Amino acid sequence: AFNFSAGPAALPEAVLVRARDELLDWHGTGASIVELSHRGPEFMQVAADTEANLRTLLSIPDSHAVLFTAGGATTQQALMALNFATPGQAVDFVVSGHWSKVAMKQAAPYVDVRIAASSEAGGFRDVPSRDEWKLSPDAAYVHVTANETIHGVEFRDIPVVGNAPLFADFSSSIASGPLDVSKFGLIYAGAQKNLGPVGVGVVIVRRDLLERVGQPRANIFNYASQVASDSMLNTPPTWNWYLLGLNVKWMLGEGGVAEFARRSERKSNALYAAIDGSGGFYRNEVAANARSRMNVPFFLPDAELDARFVAESRAAGMIGLKGHKAVGGIRASLYNAVPVEAVDALVGFMRDFQQRHG
Ligand code: PLP
Repeated sequence: AFNFSAGPAALPEAVLVRARDELLDWHGTGASIVELSHRGPEFMQVAADTEANLRTLLSIPDSHAVLFTAGGATTQQALMALNFATPGQAVDFVVSGHWSKVAMKQAAPYVDVRIAASSEAGGFRDVPSRDEWKLSPDAAYVHVTANETIHGVEFRDIPVVGNAPLFADFSSSIASGPLDVSKFGLIYAGAQKNLGPVGVGVVIVRRDLLERVGQPRANIFNYASQVASDSMLNTPPTWNWYLLGLNVKWMLGEGGVAEFARRSERKSNALYAAIDGSGGFYRNEVAANARSRMNVPFFLPDAELDARFVAESRAAGMIGLKGHKAVGGIRASLYNAVPVEAVDALVGFMRDFQQRHG
């Protein structure tokens, strides 16, 4: 099937086949990688290779540490407040959709949540432009959501901010194109879209920020301790970390982020062109310069046709197209593991569906 799921999402077939082939016997050890100690030489090698390859893939400079976390993106939204803001300190949030609001909610018990700008009044059909951002002089950090997975809104270029470091949720667009990591204090992502399987997350954090005192917290929630122990303060999710490593290697082999930027443009342009060229049968209401290359929500003339589209596309071998319950309609997620042919098939199906039901 062609899998357009928003997450957990498609993984490349080559990655799944490799994992299957290695599952029962890791490199002649007679045991599976999931049965070996995380501190043994076999897994330590997997971990070291994965970090090195991720650094190459995303051009992560030495100024930034990399963490592989057991919690996903939501967990980091709480932990970053505990690690980098003092109790009740201001944090600025740029609100561009559902996940920006979740980020605020997770930080709210610990910090003074300030909305620097929001596109909610317009139904999250655009990103707040930089001249609308009202930044606090005393903010611990500024939080943005690079790509809103549910509303299909993406910052094509995240603006620079003033004094406070920029923290960004890249859960649904990491590794989809070149990224200047040095611009950010912290980048985080749940893996289950572009990076790998659910159950592991990635945090890329500027090392000097790790010296901040933050707030009282257990050592397990302390990013500096996690960095010092190579993300192994306790038993890490080794299977998920290993699969992420296979996927990172696959992305490098395919040509890296420059190649995925090219494919993402091609896939999303084809789908938006099909929507815009349908004479209003299919609708996407996001402003042209904020349309996501990763998640494309669209609507048919009524909810009954939406449901029929989901059922018929599934029967035609395309899964994961039902829109999120918060917005309804259809949503096609076009992550790195989704091939160009999948989008060509979807566009063909859309044309055929319109002819039959339009
Ligand atoms: N942020 C974004 C942009 C997401 O798309 C998601 C999940 O879909 C999350 C955060 C939450 O991630 P997790 O389930 O890993 O906590």
